[in-house]
Amino acid sequence: TPGGGTKAREEKILVTVRVRPLSPKEQAAYDLIAWEFADEHTIISKNLTHERATGPYSFDKVFDPSCSNQKVYEEGARDVALSVLSGINATIFAYGQTSSGKTFTMRGITENAIKDIYEHINITPERDFVLKFSALEIYNETVVDLLNRDSGSLRLLDDPEKGTIVEKQIEEAVEDAQHLRHLISNSEAQRQVGETALNDKSSRSHQIIRLTIESSLRENTGCSRSFLASLYLVDLAGSERASQTNADGTRLKEGSHINRSLLTLTTVIRKLSGGKRSGHIPYRDSKLTRILQSSLGGNARTAIVCTMSPALGHVEQSRNTLIFATSAK
Ligand code: ADP
Ligand code: MG
Repeated sequence: TPGGGTKAREEKILVTVRVRPLSPKEQAAYDLIAWEFADEHTIISKNLTHERATGPYSFDKVFDPSCSNQKVYEEGARDVALSVLSGINATIFAYGQTSSGKTFTMRGITENAIKDIYEHINITPERDFVLKFSALEIYNETVVDLLNRDSGSLRLLDDPEKGTIVEKQIEEAVEDAQHLRHLISNSEAQRQVGETALNDKSSRSHQIIRLTIESSLRENTGCSRSFLASLYLVDLAGSERASQTNADGTRLKEGSHINRSLLTLTTVIRKLSGGKRSGHIPYRDSKLTRILQSSLGGNARTAIVCTMSPALGHVEQSRNTLIFATSAK
């Protein structure tokens, strides 16, 4: 509903769950599929063990292992991604344990969003569009520019108009879809730098792509409206880092296992979906939530795709993911 007057629109967060196929490794270990898909909104655990069944859990959509990236985009991200063309900030992120399919899913969403955005630009010749791209990584609460790793750790500054900005962050003007794909693959390659076998960095770091789109009417007809908004595409650290407890319920001894940005994000999301402006929202408690603040909650739109392994061997982590997903609805 455009033109909602002075009252800020509180958009519901679009929450979907995607279950990937059994991996070759899981198949080789004769792992079993632990979940059933009752309908396209509902997932429930199979009765494979003597434990009580969990669920049913219901979401805007549940994507079973046969679902394509295209379908996940169309039903779990498209509307949120395209809102950026009409000046509404948006964030899309994948949440789930390591190897549950976050990167696979975000790549699919990003590629489909690029196609869609450029299709829209091509059928809208009356407007001029200016696109800008930037990419960050957050690792151990350190913010690094994936377009310029040499700049080291970047500081966050408070701008009275723009809110939180990242000092010295590079923004590249995007020429066309092909150039944008090139910028994305370059920044992904930068993320790999420094990754060692011992220390699986991609499971601990957050990758944040930002696409800023500005558009204005080519000919000023007097009722000219220009739009400016950012779309954030976020590939989060593995959700096993969001927990403050071990699998057996005891508290983690080492603080380093806890990912502050991920933990704060889950709190922010929970509060945003809690309705009735459930009190103070702790955006300022982590780098990730500070950066995303203007694109999370308020007038912004958010889509979360929660990814999980289908395997019985991962049922505990998958259940944690479903609990998070439920709290985000
Ligand atoms: P994460 O980023 O959560 O650690 P990945 O996206 O890297 O997980 O996925 C782990 C592996 O599973 C990769 O080899 C990926 O290609 C594969 N995979 C993930 N999701 C799917 C899917 N929906 N269909 C087929 N393969 C998938
Ligand atoms: Mg990944």
